[in-house]
Amino acid sequence: MAEQKKTRIVILGGGFAGLHAAIHLDDTLARDPDVEITLVNRDNFFLFTPMLHEVAASDLDLTNIVNPVRKLLKRIDFFAGEVESINLERKLVTVSHGFDHHHHELPYDHLVIGLGSVTNFFNLPGLEQRALTMKSLGDAIHLRNRLIAHLEEADTECSAAVRRPLLTFVVAGGGFAGVETIAGINDFIREAVHFYTNLREDMLRVVLVHPGNVILLELGEKLGRYTEKKLAERGVEIRVNTRVIGVTDSGVQLSTGEQIESKALIWTAGTSPNPVLDSLPCVKERGRLKVDEMLRVPDWPGVGR
Ligand SMILES: Cc1cc2nc3c(=O)[nH]c(=O)nc-3n(C[C@H](O)[C@H](O)[C@H](O)COP(=O)(O)OP(=O)(O)OC[C@H]3O[C@@H](n4cnc5c(N)ncnc54)[C@H](O)[C@@H]3O)c2cc1C
Repeated sequence: MAEQKKTRIVILGGGFAGLHAAIHLDDTLARDPDVEITLVNRDNFFLFTPMLHEVAASDLDLTNIVNPVRKLLKRIDFFAGEVESINLERKLVTVSHGFDHHHHELPYDHLVIGLGSVTNFFNLPGLEQRALTMKSLGDAIHLRNRLIAHLEEADTECSAAVRRPLLTFVVAGGGFAGVETIAGINDFIREAVHFYTNLREDMLRVVLVHPGNVILLELGEKLGRYTEKKLAERGVEIRVNTRVIGVTDSGVQLSTGEQIESKALIWTAGTSPNPVLDSLPCVKERGRLKVDEMLRVPDWPGVGR
């Protein structure tokens, strides 16, 4: 007797969306022996991004904000790999993995796309080469190391003109990522500076640059203003209605014409949809897949976001 073909569900992305879908299906559909579910993610851990700044600011050890995917899922297969492309017509996902990045094709009957977004520098001069980002675990560790390196270098620097940009930190973007990051790094460097004999707290400068009228608009104007007040009390300068328009070796240029002498720009002011979606022949809104109220992609049965 011919073996009955299993229904294959493939979930792309192990962030909040993809992992949550996988955890839900692990307890429901995955119990059905005729269903086979695979989660594909670049890393074999889930990263709790809202606490990323606490790793950058040395408040938490990195193991506190990562959770191994294999430990979280019982009945779902996990594939650690890079999603290269999706072929909706042939119902195939191409994934690369391994040290040689060889390719695998994963066929599906149902597809969940949860690949998140990527950092967008909007082609602003100098940003891609010089700005630090805050999206991955690697970014947070790199930022922490950079903060410490700046303090070390500034401590032994005799020229005030060279020291100043080393002790000036600019964060672009007043959303969750930018506000949490600036609050974390501000506390960190203000505490750490006391361990450096040649540095004083009044040498530090921390600036948040935000294009909108109020920061953290996601939480409403009242909470945004409250956050601005609290950050200012802790020594953070806030520039609203201002954009970063470029960065050079000597500093950060703002849309107001001001130039801030700084060697550290942290960019959290732009994301764009995952480039894997670019070639998909689906209806999109500003590059994002358009979905119905059930998160289904119109015209492509079995595909959801
Ligand atoms: C520093 C920071 C602080 C934040 N704070 C808050 C907060 O306090 N509150 C809040 O509501 N939101 C916050 N956010 C936003 C929140 O993290 C995002 O809204 C959320 O992560 C989006 O979930 P997602 O599943 O769509 O994407 P993601 O969480 O980005 O998940 C996408 C997953 O897909 C993987 N992936 C991407 N491309 C590929 C590929 N080609 N192949 C394989 N895998 C791939 C990624 O590695 C990732 O695991 C913060 C974000 C940051 C960066």
